[in-house]
Amino acid sequence: MDFESIKRLGLDHIGIDATTSFESFDPSTTNHTIFIHLLKLDEISCPLCGVVNDYVCTGSRSQILKYSSAVEDNISIKLYRRTFKCKSCGHNFKESNPFTEAKRSTSLHKDMKILEALKGLNLNYTSIAKRFNVSVTYVTNLFDKKVDLNRLPLPEVMCVDEVYSKRLSHHKYCFIIYSPYDRKIIDVVDSRRMNNLIDYFSRIPLAEKNNVKYFSMDLYDNYRDLAKKCFPKAIICADSFHVIKNLSQCFHRIRIHIMKKYGHLKDNNDNYYWLFKKYWKLLTKDSSKLSYKHFETRSNQWMTCREVIDYMLSIDSDLKLAYELLHEYRNFNEKATIDNASEWLDEIILKFQSSHIPEYIPAWKLLLNWRNEIINSFNRHNGYRISNGPMERANLDIKTIFRLSFGSRNFPRMRNRIMYVMNSDSPILYHRKETTNKYRGKPRGKYKKHI
Ligand SMILES: [Zn+2]
Repeated sequence: MDFESIKRLGLDHIGIDATTSFESFDPSTTNHTIFIHLLKLDEISCPLCGVVNDYVCTGSRSQILKYSSAVEDNISIKLYRRTFKCKSCGHNFKESNPFTEAKRSTSLHKDMKILEALKGLNLNYTSIAKRFNVSVTYVTNLFDKKVDLNRLPLPEVMCVDEVYSKRLSHHKYCFIIYSPYDRKIIDVVDSRRMNNLIDYFSRIPLAEKNNVKYFSMDLYDNYRDLAKKCFPKAIICADSFHVIKNLSQCFHRIRIHIMKKYGHLKDNNDNYYWLFKKYWKLLTKDSSKLSYKHFETRSNQWMTCREVIDYMLSIDSDLKLAYELLHEYRNFNEKATIDNASEWLDEIILKFQSSHIPEYIPAWKLLLNWRNEIINSFNRHNGYRISNGPMERANLDIKTIFRLSFGSRNFPRMRNRIMYVMNSDSPILYHRKETTNKYRGKPRGKYKKHI
């Protein structure tokens, strides 16, 4: 075997005997095997009594190992190891094996490649097992024994949210703590219930909790109570996106109401009805981002988005008012600062109240209920407004992991996997852990054998 091939296979740091070692590749089966003989060491000591260079060579033994090089996932190594007999104590021993840990047939290099592949978001244990030609149990056991991640320290800006998973947690939701500035998952908790979370946070030292300056959340009352209880020094912020989403939902109810009101126009094949049916989405769009292009409507008119909106609003005054209020809030959300937010928001709440649109009652109630938290969300940290935006992106990735796990029930393993995938610098344990996170299901009941 020449030096080039030894280097290509990543074996150059191992003392292999190049003259007697060789590789074989069968293109029909793509079986790649390397036959390796090791260089004889100058100094061989007996593992039992420690006497150096006092032995007789009794032959050699071969064993098959699974190996991966930098470019190839599945290579077999047939390793020939000399056997010795110690002259002073009579102990039989073999040459050391530089590829694997004791009593294992998969090389450390391959294990590392499997662990590296497990960082992939779009791969599950089964697909990795297939790729590396090992069993699924091998991959999960390796992961459990080499990856065991602790909670990260609480950050200054902390986002919380939940992700639905029917089977993974007893309470159907996993609670996620996220740091938007490091883009890291701080921890995953298997319940979003108040008492479980209070219990969870009570185990964190007070000094660490006091470090949290901003607590960002969606509009869920429980989390606000939780923040007040567990993080008395933190400023609670409501995520602006969720506020707008709620207001838009109220606006949709008004739109549907208007649609029904003008339902009779459908029979007359009126232009207004069809325009409204097709282009109502323009009403919820950010008006500064509307396109200026003309497009052809059903009645062969050429109109811009702005003209369509104006036409829609011109028919119904309630709709016009509702539209203006929604966009006034959007404008406030974009342009307000921490200094003028409180006054501006009060003004808007008053306008919502005095509009007397029944569908907007939940909207102003929501704004009133979350007034302080909405104002707080205009605070800036490192130049960025406090928001759950980065976390929503991370949640999408978490949902991908959930989806690819096909209803896994193993929460500890899933928690490790999420943090391992999402936090780029998550460490691997130096030593293998003794236990795995194998899911203990119900014991199997009695069964009748077929006769
Ligand atoms: Zn000995």
